Amino acid sequence: MSVRELAVLGTASQVPTRHRNHNGYLLRWDREVILFDPGEGTQRQMLLAGIAASDLTRICVTHFHGDHCLGLPGVIQRLSLDRVAHPVDAHFPAGNGEYFARLRHASSFYETAEIRERPVLADGQTFETSAGRLEARRLRHPVETYGYRLVEPDDRRMLPDRLAAYGIHGPAVGELARTGHLDLPGRRVLLTEVSAPRPGQRFAFVMDTGLCDAVFALAERADLLVIESTFLTEDAALAAEVGHLTAAQAGRVAAESGVRRLVLTHFSQRYGPAPRRKPVTGGPVADTGPAAGAGSATAVPSASAAASLSAASLSTGATSAASLSTVATSAAERFAAEAREHFDGELVVAEDLIRVSVPARPVSAVATPPAASAP
Ligand SMILES: [Zn+2]
Ligand SMILES: [Zn+2]
Repeated sequence: MSVRELAVLGTASQVPTRHRNHNGYLLRWDREVILFDPGEGTQRQMLLAGIAASDLTRICVTHFHGDHCLGLPGVIQRLSLDRVAHPVDAHFPAGNGEYFARLRHASSFYETAEIRERPVLADGQTFETSAGRLEARRLRHPVETYGYRLVEPDDRRMLPDRLAAYGIHGPAVGELARTGHLDLPGRRVLLTEVSAPRPGQRFAFVMDTGLCDAVFALAERADLLVIESTFLTEDAALAAEVGHLTAAQAGRVAAESGVRRLVLTHFSQRYGPAPRRKPVTGGPVADTGPAAGAGSATAVPSASAAASLSAASLSTGATSAASLSTVATSAAERFAAEAREHFDGELVVAEDLIRVSVPARPVSAVATPPAASAP
């Protein structure tokens, strides 16, 4: 069975905090397993999330600021230590390829794994993957930075009842899919009569950037968008100056781009929990309990955002410092509230070690077409 989900390994910008590791995001999309922006500590976060280095098929680095790449040496050496037999493709800004070279060989190790360097040479460059087209777009940040999106091609899915009605089975199904029609005695059956549209899904990953056209291009009709929201609106001027987004801007991007599920991350530590003690009043744990070694998070519908955010905080390792969770939650609620000013779809304020599934295709997209007259 195919699995399409994001494992969040770290959510802190610039410096890690007591509750947030440096960046790290792993997208599992059927056979393709892509690690985005491994910051410091990624190798251990993978362990805590139940992810093996041998699962990786691809690494994508948006840029070479430390919070997005200092985990590369550990992950790369781990691939060799674990004798990973398949090649792993690595994408990164070509203009800063020297940093990748240094990180790749940061210290002595016995290299056996095959890392295939496939740098991004230009805005709009695409790479074919088993999951569809991987596209890189140049973002606005002080160093060369690319966001990525994965675009699955549109397809069709066969309708077993329609095939059965025409008596089509076995190799004939493959021929029909390949050629678009099948000639039966006295009748030609068209592919459209026995199949329904299966629109491709999209995943977008937008890290450090000021607001620019490429952000909207990457986010366009994304089923799942992971986007930095380093700052709150009170610091919007600073965000623009240093090439970052606010939560409100991220919400606007999602709303204007037709995003279905929005994940906010890469938070500045300035809004984090202060070391002050507050009593915990508790809250519903709902459906965000730990699973398979890591927390899991369903998307947060707007009506229950506050309750589910509280649950997410409490379910991801913060319980040992439960008295701090209330403060942490209030920061998450502020990010959510500002994104909500623009976006009314499904919203997740990321916590370390949660999992967020790629939402299933809308029911209307896989509806059975009008019945054709069977022979
Ligand atoms: Zn960053
Ligand atoms: Zn940066």
